[in-house]
Amino acid sequence: HCKKTGKASFRFYTTELEKQAEEEILIELRLKKALAQGGFRLHYQPVIDIKSGKLIGAEALVRLEDGQGATLGPDRFVPVAEATGLIADLGQWVVEEACRQHRIWLRQGMALTIAINVSPLQFRHPTFAKKLGEIISETGMSPGSIEIEVTESAVMDDVNEAVDILNRIKSLGVRIALDDFGTGYSSLSSLTSLPLDKLKVDQSFIRHIERDHASRAVTEAILSLGRSLRLDVHGEGIESEYELQYLSEHGCNQAQGYLFSRPLPAHEFALWCRQREAA
Ligand code: C2E
Ligand code: MG
Ligand code: MG
Ligand code: MG
Repeated sequence: HCKKTGKASFRFYTTELEKQAEEEILIELRLKKALAQGGFRLHYQPVIDIKSGKLIGAEALVRLEDGQGATLGPDRFVPVAEATGLIADLGQWVVEEACRQHRIWLRQGMALTIAINVSPLQFRHPTFAKKLGEIISETGMSPGSIEIEVTESAVMDDVNEAVDILNRIKSLGVRIALDDFGTGYSSLSSLTSLPLDKLKVDQSFIRHIERDHASRAVTEAILSLGRSLRLDVHGEGIESEYELQYLSEHGCNQAQGYLFSRPLPAHEFALWCRQREAA
């Protein structure tokens, strides 16, 4: 064992940790500023009914803007929001903003289901369901046009607790989708006790459908499981016609991905919809 190397690698390790901690502090500051001054934006990605080809919904995806044109994606700041407790306020903003936008589109004749992502801590927060209920009654929107997305891993962390919470959310009349399905470790038996409306097949399988036999096998298994449970099955991250065709042939009924559109700011999303209608 060499002392010198030990010291050197210790020093390197500390610097890396320090860099990471510093970055997290910077992100935390940006989150606080954005919450106080309105620096978050929602982008919307179309959800398509495969059989009819019709647009049926939009998934709201949050971004953090710095005011100078640079945008930070949720994979960077949602974990920091979770670690610092800011996720409750951020989540509340997302729900309110998505519902506000939904109403604007409804008035313009676009009746869409709006999908909202909810992180593990956020959906376990004691007042989440209550606040969601308040927003629904304040805005008068139809609860069935809201879809709450929780990830498989968030739910399976503590299935009994998740069943209780999801039942409470479900009793408001909103829909529930299990996001990133296939990447967690579901106990298949507990799937039947969750009040689900939809499985979203994770894009990591769809990405490899064309080349990889195992990804096809997993995708087909998920699609057939979802259908037997009478759930909607939704493919995410669809980038090619091949992937869409394959999913369609194997009983997938909803699709989302760059093949249709990237997530777009609200006004661009509305333009996209009009252009699609005209075409
Ligand atoms: P997710 O809910 O699974 O969302 C899908 C992600 O895949 C999005 O990334 C989307 O932009 C991206 N995507 C969609 N189609 C394609 C495609 O065809 N190819 C590829 N390569 N990517 C595609 P994004 O927007 O960076 O979001 C990442 C994750 O952050 C989301 O994964 C979700 O778990 C989380 N997230 C997003 N918005 C929110 C939010 O408002 N609240 C919370 N708690 N989490 C959020
Ligand atoms: Mg999602
Ligand atoms: Mg997903
Ligand atoms: Mg994801």
